[in-house]
Amino acid sequence: MKLKFKSFFCFVLALLLAALALVPAGLSEPPYTKYSRRALDIFNTEITLMGYTRTEADFSQAYEDTLALLRRFDQIFDAYNGYEGLNNLYYVNRHAAEGPVEIPEELFSLISWCKEQWDKGLRGTNIAMGAVLSIWHEYREAGLADPEKAQLPPAEALLAASAHTDFDNVILDAEKQTVFFADPQITLDVGAVAKGWAADAVLPYLKEHMPSFLISLGGNVYAGDPPLDGRANWAVGVEDPRPDENGGGLMYRDIVDIHDLTVVTSGDYWRYYVVDGQRYHHIIDPETLFPSTKMISVTIICESSTLADFLSTTLFVLSLEDGLKLIEGMDGVEALWMLPDGTEQASSGMGQYLRSLKNAGGAQ
Ligand code: AMP
Ligand code: MG
Repeated sequence: MKLKFKSFFCFVLALLLAALALVPAGLSEPPYTKYSRRALDIFNTEITLMGYTRTEADFSQAYEDTLALLRRFDQIFDAYNGYEGLNNLYYVNRHAAEGPVEIPEELFSLISWCKEQWDKGLRGTNIAMGAVLSIWHEYREAGLADPEKAQLPPAEALLAASAHTDFDNVILDAEKQTVFFADPQITLDVGAVAKGWAADAVLPYLKEHMPSFLISLGGNVYAGDPPLDGRANWAVGVEDPRPDENGGGLMYRDIVDIHDLTVVTSGDYWRYYVVDGQRYHHIIDPETLFPSTKMISVTIICESSTLADFLSTTLFVLSLEDGLKLIEGMDGVEALWMLPDGTEQASSGMGQYLRSLKNAGGAQ
């Protein structure tokens, strides 16, 4: 009896396997399709997710989950608004001088990463420059709200604030996950790195849920594995910082072909206001305390979006010479500088990504 049952079971199994073999591979599941969606209410910028899923419902789920993560990061890194029950940056800036404040791990991770760069001597991007940056923020907001009355911040106010920008006065305790300000007037602004950090932080989720994707947070793009349409890379546009001067209408100055890499641009055209006919943008040179005039845009390509975001701001305030020296000394990092005189400079390995250099035979 036992034997009979066993042979019957084997027969059914064989039938099942034969039936499965007749179903052409792939027919059992719908093929991957590319979808894309855009949000405008997070990180004060345009966020686009493009990626492949088998159904539109799968894509919607992945998109909503990604946005939920980004929304949380946006609140944590927000220096200008408080949220009930969240020790975010705004809360830290108001209370960390009173005593150590326990903060979410995302914020701790970002501040300590920036502090490591500071300790290495990379000081063009200083997130402890909040005291200076908030003055510019206030004057820019007022100037945008009422352009006729737009004013520059008084140099004395900027100078006084710059006395409270020493990152060494930001004391971190990794065990307790706290931050303490040894200078009561110091504040943090993580605008230079938050989007890059957020892009890196959603990667594990995206990689698990899509075979190929591209995510863009304003000037921060991360391109995952190659698209499933046969192309070897994703094509990402490098914006033209002066479209009007270059014939108008043309949005991109160049294209980079990448996968499993990030491309991040800092530019003087992203956020600015006008005083007496002159543009004043949002990237402040720690030396002059004024918007840096050395570059009009800097683009970085590397694996880490956090590093790329940090470096794009850093190179924006460094001279071309110092920036080149820095980038050529780093493995796996390439840069493209656009200077105010309209010229461009690329780091030595940029030719493998930048379309204009590849077309010119400059690929390396
Ligand atoms: P990004 O577009 O990545 O270059 O970042 C610009 C933002 O970083 C600004 O809106 C400020 O919030 C902040 N920021 C500007 N200049 C600096 C600086 N020198 N160091 C650190 N953060 C800065
Ligand atoms: Mg940046």
